[in-house]
Amino acid sequence: MTPETTISATDPRSGERLDAHPATPPSAIPELTAAAAAACSDARLHDTDRRAAALRGAAARLRADGERLRDRFQRESGLPAARAAGELERTCVQLEALADVVADGAHLEPIIDRADPDAAPAPRPDLRRMLVPVGPVAVFGASNFPFAFGVAGGDTAAALAVGCPVVAKGHPAQPGLNRAVADHVAAAIEEAQLPAAAFALVQGDTPEIGAALVRAQEIAAVAFTGSTKGGRALFDLAAARERPIPVFAEMGSVNPAVVTAGALRRRGAEIAQTFVASITGAAGQLCTKPGVVLVPEGEEGDRWCADVAERLAAAQPLVMLTARMRDALVDQLADLAARDDVRPLTPSSARQEPGFRIDAATYETSATALATAPALREECFGPFALLARYASQDELLTAVRAFDGQLATALHADVAAEPELAQQLSAALERRCGRVVFDGWPTGVAVTWAMQHGGPYPATTAPGETSVGMTATRRFQRPVCWQDAPQELLPQALRDANPRGTWRRVDGQLTNASIGA
Ligand code: NAP
Repeated sequence: MTPETTISATDPRSGERLDAHPATPPSAIPELTAAAAAACSDARLHDTDRRAAALRGAAARLRADGERLRDRFQRESGLPAARAAGELERTCVQLEALADVVADGAHLEPIIDRADPDAAPAPRPDLRRMLVPVGPVAVFGASNFPFAFGVAGGDTAAALAVGCPVVAKGHPAQPGLNRAVADHVAAAIEEAQLPAAAFALVQGDTPEIGAALVRAQEIAAVAFTGSTKGGRALFDLAAARERPIPVFAEMGSVNPAVVTAGALRRRGAEIAQTFVASITGAAGQLCTKPGVVLVPEGEEGDRWCADVAERLAAAQPLVMLTARMRDALVDQLADLAARDDVRPLTPSSARQEPGFRIDAATYETSATALATAPALREECFGPFALLARYASQDELLTAVRAFDGQLATALHADVAAEPELAQQLSAALERRCGRVVFDGWPTGVAVTWAMQHGGPYPATTAPGETSVGMTATRRFQRPVCWQDAPQELLPQALRDANPRGTWRRVDGQLTNASIGA
């Protein structure tokens, strides 16, 4: 095999080059996507029970092979053992939860408006609507969640759950893990007697392979987690196609947080301790890391910032996922430190050996500088946060309102003592983000029905959707309405008889009964 056709990871902890894996040539894409499109017309893929069995089977296989997978995860990501175990289990639970979501058919969101010859202002026909799968989905796995947002992660699980074949592009930092996980998914698909082309992995470390995938005629939607630059590039490629397709890109986010004077007085030390944990956990390589915190000026605020700086200075150097990410952060922090309106509170971060290590850092600026200089509102991916000091409520609100779309924000306030301020901040934060966290940090993302992991651009390219939780399936479905269709030509979920007891909106009312029962 020539060097051009293989791809290898580097252990971020030691810098050791790991084994080589075959890269997919872009010329292989048309065959894979054509097979995926053909699988859409295969009746086996329309069988909800088989799909649910495949998702559960994949979870069982991943758990059974847990020791080997966790070891590979650590060697290719540098993330610690506890994270490997927690993330693997989260991934399995996610696969199983999405299997449960489709079991009762509610994800189809069936709506039935029966014909009414007496309706005003005009008689109305029989209208029956539900969601159908969009077709093959290209999934771009994220490097910072090698299991949970990787090739068997939330995007793949959500797409397969609703009956969309997946062609997954593995992140090039973790080719061995991608291959091992993909083999389990493929085996689970075979065991559940789904068409083999319902899932495929492609690998590569050049933009060509990903671009070829997004351009492929048969691909109907793209799911992506990664940088703003990468997500935007794929979004633009998809829009430039002869038949544009949606791109659900979850990209960078600063996730600004506010700490009020009241909150500092009540629980300043606890806020400092949990904040430091949230920006050093996973070496700050989380799209939900609070990258900017607005802190009041004055003695209490000074003490709080000094406490944070002290805790960070005491931390060991942290291992980042790739040399590219570590170097990008070092350069970004050097640029920030050179500014007149920024003051490093811990020393400017430098590269540390062995592997891709870096010291955690925090810098200080004013809320006015934050509001006026876009460079201060850019995401710095890694163990860093900017503390922006405000002297008045006006200065604070102006800074909050300067932010573009965010995945999440956090508000630490004493609501009883500062009701009006808390109200204003809550409203201003809600307008620019997908999730507002009160008296906590956004770094943990629960996989539940109510979770929203998304937000206005540039946090994502699809502000109406979430990439985490049970409603993540919506991205890969589209509504179809059947008008005056005979019962035998309707999908099962829209017929009068409702043997699965699916919840449907019939003539405006939610019910799981059969019509005419
Ligand atoms: P990335 O550079 O955006 O890459 C993610 C995936 O997209 C990779 O498979 C990459 O493949 C592909 N890709 C990116 N640009 C492409 C293009 N123009 N054409 C075709 N494929 C493209 O993300 P990353 O490598 O994981 O991390 C880089 C930065 O992304 C980080 O420093 C951080 O700022 C951000 N990040 C954000 C999140 C988040 O949760 N939102 C997660 C991880 C990283 P190739 O590398 O082979 O091109």
